Amino acid sequence: MKIGIVGLGLIGGSLGLDLRSLGHRVLGVSRQERTCDIAVARGAADEAVTDLALLADTDAIFICTPLAYVQTTVAQLIPHISLTTIVTDVGSVKAAIVRDITPLWRNFVGGHPMAGTAESGIEAAQHGLFAGNPYVLTPTEATPLDAIALVESIIRPLQVRLYHCQPDEHDRAVAWISHLPVMVSASLITACLSDADPASLKLAQLLASSGFRDTSRVGGGNPELGLMMARYNREEVLRSLRVYRETLDRMIHTIDQQDWTTLEETLQQTQAARTRFVD
Ligand code: NAP
Repeated sequence: MKIGIVGLGLIGGSLGLDLRSLGHRVLGVSRQERTCDIAVARGAADEAVTDLALLADTDAIFICTPLAYVQTTVAQLIPHISLTTIVTDVGSVKAAIVRDITPLWRNFVGGHPMAGTAESGIEAAQHGLFAGNPYVLTPTEATPLDAIALVESIIRPLQVRLYHCQPDEHDRAVAWISHLPVMVSASLITACLSDADPASLKLAQLLASSGFRDTSRVGGGNPELGLMMARYNREEVLRSLRVYRETLDRMIHTIDQQDWTTLEETLQQTQAARTRFVD
């Protein structure tokens, strides 16, 4: 298949590497020429330029730009592509994207691969990023069935765990397991930095090891991604943060009261519950 990718960064570049390995011809478009050159040199695209006209006769196009540019990219693509071209995106928020793009392009299928690293840009692209991870599609009643089938036929061979849900269901669920963790992890780093004793902070930085590496990873990632999650999924991010604040207040109260029985019960519950989210 001839597949277009717009936005050759971590996700677009990684998709390109995998799709080329599967035998597809990948045509890439990115904002900077340098990025296009690196993408071709790294094997993430057969050809890559800064002009969307390159994607004129592709079968499917993955929009992998930051969220703020998804809608404008689709609008700019429309004069170049045929009505049968299937367009999908990889954005971390779905309701706003699906609401804005569906009226522009009938053959649009919202998507979100649940995979990433703390890095960004084409240099961070890697083979096999999506394998074993969930990939959510958010078709609506208006989405043509053959468009969904085509996107599925491209992404299934990436060995992903494929799910379907409504865009707003997606946004509520990912607020819990992706967007809230970014805000909590960022707040953790900020709180540590606020230690008024420079010697204590320095010692904490020297002693930080695997626990802090795990808990600070998403808060120490690409700032643009966190910003877009908050801007485009504001209501759900706020809802989850408020529940988190209440939970934190209960935890403070429990420890303040030296209620070790309640604390132990809570930690036993969280230990058991974690396996329902991750293995
Ligand atoms: P990224 O590494 O920063 O890559 C985005 C790339 O898009 C940049 O390298 C940039 O390339 C290019 N770009 C920016 N504006 C553009 C425009 N107007 N037209 C064409 N190309 C443009 O970001 P990412 O992490 O891959 O995220 C991309 C999308 O994937 C976002 O929508 C995000 O929500 C979604 N996503 C991210 C993750 C994650 O964990 N990182 C996971 C799932 C989904 P230039 O160098 O050419 O400027």
